[in-house]
Amino acid sequence: MSAVALGVPSVRGPVSGAPADGPLVDTFGRVATDLRVSLTDLCNLRCTYCMPAEGLDWLPAEQKLRVDELIRLLHIAVTRLGITSVRFTGGEPMVVPHLEDVVAATAALRPRPEITLTTNGIGLARRAEALKNAGLDRINVSLDTVDRQRFAAITRRDRLDAVLAGLRAAQAAGLSPVKVNAVLDPVIGLDDAVALLRFCLAHGYQLRIIEQMPLDAGHSWQREHTLSADAILAALRREFTLSPHPGPRGSAPAELWQVRSGAEAGAAVLGDVGIIASVSHAFCASCDRTRLTADGQVRNCLFARDETDLRALLRTGADDDALEAAWRAAMWAKAAGHGINDPGFVQPDRPMSAIGG
Ligand code: SAM
Ligand code: SF4
Repeated sequence: MSAVALGVPSVRGPVSGAPADGPLVDTFGRVATDLRVSLTDLCNLRCTYCMPAEGLDWLPAEQKLRVDELIRLLHIAVTRLGITSVRFTGGEPMVVPHLEDVVAATAALRPRPEITLTTNGIGLARRAEALKNAGLDRINVSLDTVDRQRFAAITRRDRLDAVLAGLRAAQAAGLSPVKVNAVLDPVIGLDDAVALLRFCLAHGYQLRIIEQMPLDAGHSWQREHTLSADAILAALRREFTLSPHPGPRGSAPAELWQVRSGAEAGAAVLGDVGIIASVSHAFCASCDRTRLTADGQVRNCLFARDETDLRALLRTGADDDALEAAWRAAMWAKAAGHGINDPGFVQPDRPMSAIGG
């Protein structure tokens, strides 16, 4: 047993009132079109802000969705619930041997959803081309520093070279654009951010910096020990010329900035950088996400405190109508916001790695 248990929250019973068809809506009128699927809670890194060094109490194999069960739920999501975008995540989705098969089965759904992957990049050098051929459209690779020693300290594994090779392979395979996700260390993360942006501009990757959220397994998150989007932006502005991105933001979590070669009008655009201010400037009002965990639970929010057990329904013979209705009811019950900034906020039992970031 590891020191930190994998929290499994209460399971929601049936909720009435959700529309029986049409878009996947909640009571605030938000429509979920973006499905985040966690394929596993396992991981080969131990990022300090995510997992303890000794790992977690991993989900038993029999509790995880089988591939046929997952594909059935994906079919319902796309053909009945209006999901247009599917992101596979984890844990580390690249430790799942059948990842390419799941991507290919998702690509065969009609209307075909956009298919993306969030990964730590280990093993990507070997699999990027197969994933692209299976139907993967885009990829986000998590990388918090380009300094080898700092990488080893943050992830507790000396694997920076594998991640860099994965990034190169993703780009070569045409998984475009390649995005780099970074969560910054509170002490020297601003230096990492500057070096990461230089690195991403030089290689044509798009950097997305994410505010650290209270989703660590140890429940030790403290706001004063994290960097805010404003602090990150100020640090980048000391080194780079940034101007607001002219494109519409829509439901995208990142606020985008163009990096320019100088302050003068007409200065060349060198690339862009996004800052995801999940804590300090929450974007819950435009959230378009629904989530499925590796053990078949629908979560209507990263910070939800209860879940809807589709695996139990699947394994007791529920038909597609019943699964659809349960998913709709789960989303109907979505709260207005994550509540991190409310005095009574309680962190969800499951850590990020068991929900799917
Ligand atoms: N293992 C894969 C990876 O690291 O990309 C996918 C799963 S990971 C949970 C997904 C994303 O969540 C990563 O970009 C990671 O940096 C981010 N993440 C993990 N814990 C976080 C936290 N407490 N706050 C904000 N982001 C976090
Ligand atoms: Fe693993 Fe991703 Fe969590 Fe790091 S952030 S420990 S790579 S699941």
